[in-house]
Amino acid sequence: MTNGQRNPHTDQPVTIVGAGPAGLACAIVLARAGRRVVVREWHRTVGSRFHGDYQGLENWSDKRDIFDELRTAGIEASFDYHPVNESTVFDAWGEAYHIRTKRPLYYLIQRGGGDGSLDLGLLDQAVAAGAEIRFGDRVNTIEGPAVLAAGPRHADAIAVGYVFETDCPDGYWAVFDNTLAPLGYSYLLIHNGRGTLASCMFTGFKRQAEHVARTVDFFRDKTGLEMRDAKPFGGFANFRLPRTALQGGHPVVGEQAGFQDALAGFGMRYALRSGILAARSLIEDVDYTRLWRKELQPQLRIGVSNRFIFNVLGDRGWRWMLRGLSRSDPAAKLLRLYQPSPLTRLVYPLAAWHYRRPLRDPSCDHADCNCVWCKQSARAAVMSAG
Ligand SMILES: Cc1cc2nc3c(=O)[nH]c(=O)nc-3n(C[C@H](O)[C@H](O)[C@H](O)COP(=O)(O)OP(=O)(O)OC[C@H]3O[C@@H](n4cnc5c(N)ncnc54)[C@H](O)[C@@H]3O)c2cc1C
Repeated sequence: MTNGQRNPHTDQPVTIVGAGPAGLACAIVLARAGRRVVVREWHRTVGSRFHGDYQGLENWSDKRDIFDELRTAGIEASFDYHPVNESTVFDAWGEAYHIRTKRPLYYLIQRGGGDGSLDLGLLDQAVAAGAEIRFGDRVNTIEGPAVLAAGPRHADAIAVGYVFETDCPDGYWAVFDNTLAPLGYSYLLIHNGRGTLASCMFTGFKRQAEHVARTVDFFRDKTGLEMRDAKPFGGFANFRLPRTALQGGHPVVGEQAGFQDALAGFGMRYALRSGILAARSLIEDVDYTRLWRKELQPQLRIGVSNRFIFNVLGDRGWRWMLRGLSRSDPAAKLLRLYQPSPLTRLVYPLAAWHYRRPLRDPSCDHADCNCVWCKQSARAAVMSAG
């Protein structure tokens, strides 16, 4: 305040629940603006729901490069990353399409608490900016200003596979085949002697082991994949088109709000963006609802329409898409896929209605089930009881 008076509102520390990318992005921006920040994290380290697996920080849905966007908000790339400009994608008939772009399609980063990971890089930055981090602190109630960033609450998709060591050369592959990953895709990412292979499925959870085994066979056949010291891993993802991203008057960010691209299941860019927006809403005293609806809602809706369209088109739709992408200027085509079009506008009401229905996976009744979601929700229940 200009007259030297203290402002009780801005003097109160902001509590951030969860030290994932959403919570940490928010913490960095707030702390850099001089706000007191306490991040309360359930686990004893960051990234504990990940396993050193490679993920892609997508760079195709916006004209701005993701790192320029982060830098503008005051967040540095203080973690290892590798730009991916070239990728091979297969259709359900096993045909390969080579996709090359001038600007990176995505940046390969590592998740978990290891050296060079996104999670550890953001944590170090938040601490350097002055945020206090409390680990092993599971939050049930909060007082004062807060931002909720506790990650996914439900499983709308699961990704299951292996992290491994390998002598195979670097490469980045995906396949759209319902027999390998129902309504989703399988991927293989190899970089510097380490690899991640997974089936990312949007239904068919109960037969996850079968889908992973087929995915391994597929990539062995197509790429000569060899895995050493393969460790199984898995995780789940939550998509929602929230009516409100406020809970108890507090901004909800990242996957806790359901922010994620419904077509491809990419949530990190949304997590970082929404964390930044929540910080801005507190610093500038502007309405968070107005901010996320303006900055995030249009693309979230397009994602929902795209998922609906590709669910209807099935494997043939992906083949048509991949043919188009491999012929010319894939970056421009991908960018267009994420811009409003008459088709996405037309199908949106139906897509949104369809989307609001609860997950109905006929293969998983969540009873006596060994799928990633059922295992993790059981673990969460045990932890909360303890
Ligand atoms: C296997 C897998 C692969 C993926 N691949 C990609 C990809 O390639 N590209 C992409 O963009 N996205 C990908 N995603 C999605 C992406 O990882 C998430 O969208 C992103 O991590 C969401 O960030 P977040 O900060 O919202 O939540 P999280 O990263 O889940 O962080 C939430 C944090 O909150 C903590 N927490 C939870 N409850 C409490 C509580 N009560 N009190 C205190 N702390 C709490 C948790 O311990 C956790 O540390 C993938 C997800 C999975 C599972």
